[in-house]
Amino acid sequence: MTVVDIAKKVNSGEVSALEIITKTLDGIKEKNPSLNAFLEIFEEEALKRAKEIDAMPQGKKGRLAGVPVAIKDNILYEGHICSCASKMLENYKAPYTATVVKKLLKEGAVIVGRTNMDEFAMGSSNENSAFGPVKNPLDLARVPGGSSGGSAAAVASGMVPVALGSDTGGSIRQPASFCGVVGIKPTYGSVSRYGLTAFASSADQIGPITNNIEDNELVLSVISGQDKKDSTSKPAPQNKQEKQNLTLGVPTDFLANLKGETAEAFNQAVELFKTKGVQIKEISLPHAKYAAPCYHILTSSEASSNLARFDGLRYGYSAKDTKDLEDTYLKNRAAFGPEVKRRIILGTFSLNSAHAGDFYLQAQKVRELIKQDFQKALKEVDAIIMPTTPNGAFKIGEVEDILTLYLADLFTCPANMAGVPALTVPFGKDKNNMPLGLQICANYFNENLLYKTAALARGK
Ligand code: GLN
Repeated sequence: MTVVDIAKKVNSGEVSALEIITKTLDGIKEKNPSLNAFLEIFEEEALKRAKEIDAMPQGKKGRLAGVPVAIKDNILYEGHICSCASKMLENYKAPYTATVVKKLLKEGAVIVGRTNMDEFAMGSSNENSAFGPVKNPLDLARVPGGSSGGSAAAVASGMVPVALGSDTGGSIRQPASFCGVVGIKPTYGSVSRYGLTAFASSADQIGPITNNIEDNELVLSVISGQDKKDSTSKPAPQNKQEKQNLTLGVPTDFLANLKGETAEAFNQAVELFKTKGVQIKEISLPHAKYAAPCYHILTSSEASSNLARFDGLRYGYSAKDTKDLEDTYLKNRAAFGPEVKRRIILGTFSLNSAHAGDFYLQAQKVRELIKQDFQKALKEVDAIIMPTTPNGAFKIGEVEDILTLYLADLFTCPANMAGVPALTVPFGKDKNNMPLGLQICANYFNENLLYKTAALARGK
């Protein structure tokens, strides 16, 4: 059942929340052992909550009444472990609840568990989890993408109708695309990050992964809005105009090297839009090709600062029998996995006063140019379309070269650098019959336009 259906039927009393949640938990127990998408299910509590929702008056159970939701393991839910799929936080219990989770609960949702991810949200394949890789439900030999791979796999396998992910450079859109589901990275500032474990604060956003567009829109409307606990959050501007005749931009310069099935699928999408009366216009994003390197310099720099608190003294793994302060640091920080260490080292290096002018400051300037590219293009068109990823899901263990992995975010990073919203919908297949995604980017707070364009791509 879809999110929309569940909420409607639970509210009308046609089905009970208990029935939905019991079936959901059974499904997770059956499917999860082969997928490793959930790190933990909150069984007892979910059942208790379902009963509470059933006891509420009909029609007043909330917009997400009885809807089972999974949360990525970097989002806090009071009293529950939030490990960021890291040995560093293996036993860390959340002391408070994230704003997004509070908002879901207020509308009658039931949090059924926490999902696996790349450690501290760093990765594109889920192979960086300290608790084993997640399998792609469409082909168990393949990765589900990352870093929100557990969330995407949980939705694609039908274990839950919605899961929250976080996206700093593509971590919602890339796994959603690899698993054939819908995912959105909302406008920077539209969803509160209070209670999200920070990776790179200037880019992190939380968003929903769902099976369809309507569900996605509903859940996003519940979790978005200004929050005084996140000073970067903003209210969405009111009185948005409904556009009738859409113009979509294709960044031909940025997509110059597109080939194979990805190019074919994208061209088919363009043709489909034309048959729907959409005007297609060539645009230019001259600096978008620098988004991936720019992203890695900036986010690693921010991560090196954000992750300094995990030293075993303030937070995280604390080794026993250490000799002195240096020994304590060495042993405690060893709890991080190799990718997290790599990023901390890269970020510390690029922030070092001897190099900051060459790397961090330079990347900040490039980021500004990318932002300007988007602003210029979005004056000419309503939204921009491009593939979500260069390729479909690869095999677990297949890609060992770090740079190739980093390039999985080639098309997703620009939206994070610019702060604009971006959504992926399944469109086409690769040669292995794995799904590909179509990505749509619009101007700040124009998420409704993304949903409208996506619906056209789905033949609606
Ligand atoms: N795959 C990207 C990375 O490795 C994006 C991660 C993210 O968005 N959290 O950094």
